[in-house]
Amino acid sequence: MYSSKIYLDKKKYEENIRFIKKIIGEKTIISSVVKGNAYGHGIKEMILLAEESGINHFSVFSQDEAYKVKKYSTKNSTIMIMGVLSLKKINWVISNDIEFFVFNFKRLKEALKTSKKLNKKIKIHIEVETGLNRTGFSEKELPELFKIIQKNKEYITIKGICTHFAGAESIANYYRIKKQNNRFKKYLEEFDKANIKYELTHAACSAAAVTMPNTRRNLVRIGIMQYGFWPSDETRMFYLTKKQKKKDPLQPILSWESEIMSIKHVKAGEYIGYGDYYLAKEDMTIGTVPIGYAQGYGRQLSNNSWIMVNDEIAEVIGVINMNLFQINISGLENVNIGDRVILIGQENNKEIRFASFSDKKSSLNYEILTRIPEELPREIINK
Ligand SMILES: *Cc1c(COP(=O)(O)O)cnc(C)c1O
Repeated sequence: MYSSKIYLDKKKYEENIRFIKKIIGEKTIISSVVKGNAYGHGIKEMILLAEESGINHFSVFSQDEAYKVKKYSTKNSTIMIMGVLSLKKINWVISNDIEFFVFNFKRLKEALKTSKKLNKKIKIHIEVETGLNRTGFSEKELPELFKIIQKNKEYITIKGICTHFAGAESIANYYRIKKQNNRFKKYLEEFDKANIKYELTHAACSAAAVTMPNTRRNLVRIGIMQYGFWPSDETRMFYLTKKQKKKDPLQPILSWESEIMSIKHVKAGEYIGYGDYYLAKEDMTIGTVPIGYAQGYGRQLSNNSWIMVNDEIAEVIGVINMNLFQINISGLENVNIGDRVILIGQENNKEIRFASFSDKKSSLNYEILTRIPEELPREIINK
């Protein structure tokens, strides 16, 4: 018995993809980023949804995620590993034509060894260091890199040259990103000068794809936006202001639902829940919802969140417990035990999404979504 359930809306997903395509143009490939259990949405359901909506390129962080995409894909989509790769499992990766980032010599050499053993070409994306200072080859490593590539030409297909930006969702990072983009162009010139052939170049995540047109190139790696969330309020405002739009074109596809487990009346002057997080200033009616930080509803949402009950908004009060939290239902008509509540989602033009919470850093969306437990039941609606 699960205390909550996830629904994924196919129509909304298709509309989000249509919107993203409108921004980036029909020629740019969308790589759907499904790391972190598809940002908590569920990798299995998302692969199904995305492939039915015409997506056939997926980015994952690790090879165990690649394994899942491969398992659930019915359209033989391209799979690209951006992060970890156990050298012990590289056999599987290469023999299944999984593409992967290469950002150091160790990985390249190991991959080549296996490639020769299997007599199968590796399909790689060479990641270059442009200023995030996380992973990627630097300028001074290029001569050696080029030498290895030239020497092993018949074992390597360079699918792409790529980089990643250091926080494109915030205007405060604008100059850093711009510098990164320029440095990326210089790298590409070096590859061209050395006559190293590659198929694609890519750098943009959701935020860069919206706010910096010249980062879009042949492929964009789109995570958060396909799920219907903006990377940040700044990105949303940038788009809405520039296009003079009032209506938000993105719609969260996920709704997370549970039900009221208990109802109680509390007298003015009493504290509600653990400690002194919430003091009832008047007589109140409160409801308990069987979800807590163990289910990913984090403590940062204590006294700082809203959910929907029978079409009305109810405030979360007190501290989030391990498996429970409480809401204020004073004044709401006719709320009963067992009534459905919506933690994220939309109904009758009312909407609950984490982006509307008070956290200015907005990384909250990414964090809360990816913490939604993998084992919760999920269902695709509007099929
Ligand atoms: C997660 C990730 C993305 C996607 O970022 P969003 O902001 O969710 O679009 C793109 N590229 C890399 C390398 C990533 O790790």
